[in-house]
Amino acid sequence: MRYCQRCGVPRILTSEHKWAPNGTISVTRDVNHRMVFIDNDALNHILEQISTRIGIPLEIIIQEAKRKSGKDFMDAVLSGLKGIVARNLASARVYSQLSKQVGMLGLGHAELVDYKRHSFLEGAITDAYSAPAITGDICGAFESVEGCTAEARYEVGAGGTVKCFIRSADVERPELESRFGYVPPPLLPGRNIYELCPVCRAPKALGVQYAFDADRGIIVDRKTNHRVVLIGVMTLANLFGELERELGDEVPKMIAEIEKDRVREVILSSAKDRDTSESGYLRYLKTLELKGMGNGVSVALSDGMVEARVDNPYFEPLVAGFLAGFYEATTGEKSALSWNDASAGYTSVTINRA
Ligand SMILES: [Zn+2]
Repeated sequence: MRYCQRCGVPRILTSEHKWAPNGTISVTRDVNHRMVFIDNDALNHILEQISTRIGIPLEIIIQEAKRKSGKDFMDAVLSGLKGIVARNLASARVYSQLSKQVGMLGLGHAELVDYKRHSFLEGAITDAYSAPAITGDICGAFESVEGCTAEARYEVGAGGTVKCFIRSADVERPELESRFGYVPPPLLPGRNIYELCPVCRAPKALGVQYAFDADRGIIVDRKTNHRVVLIGVMTLANLFGELERELGDEVPKMIAEIEKDRVREVILSSAKDRDTSESGYLRYLKTLELKGMGNGVSVALSDGMVEARVDNPYFEPLVAGFLAGFYEATTGEKSALSWNDASAGYTSVTINRA
């Protein structure tokens, strides 16, 4: 039985992830590896908007950032004796295992088209969440499994099928690991309680919020009808960190603003009346938990100013944009937004009328 009959969540997804009471999701076999459900339309929208504003294509940066984190993740998965066996005896099987992971995470449906050990890999991905991102993911995995550096390129064919071509090559990466600089801040404890599915022990809310199709590799948010993906927080931080290094300090502000505009429109398009009291804001923040985005702990309102504290935010500018979008949609005012960096484990977001 691949899906729980009661709640509809894939069994493998539940067994491989843990929902903690502090608003985070982690990988069961590596608690330091934090994951987040993120709206894929929003993520692609942010990347497109940055690209448009700055006037350069981002595909190479995206592919490269994903390659690095994909390699890092596979290195961790394949460490130890199991990894030696996998690398030497069963490398083709590792890729079929990997394609199951890709489907479970909602990244698309990946198939191995052609493969020669230590030499090349050709893959075809239908319903890929992003062409450069999935190519980077697969390239990183290839580098880890084969123990070499590699070059990757992709083509997007009929119906959006992504074909990726990875081949081993001597690639000079002088600043390689020094740029891989994300250090996760300490996690703060929390006290959220999830009601669990009595059959599979996944949070009950998970199957209510999302529809899973692990064969196609698609997860859909039933509330927004948007596609979501489950990706590493470190991956996201490295991707955005890479963009900031390449494109400048204004990138986080830009990300917050793009997210704010998007969230405002989403909220305005649903006719629902929103409670804008402190407890209304807290309820709004509560939607972050199940997604692993953090833990909203306090909100203070005074003279049109909103101050909110979110523990363990997955990415501060996106949490800030999420709050400011709510503010703008419910007040009809433009907002001035600031937040602090979560190196102590939490961010305080302040929103004023602009
Ligand atoms: Zn269940």
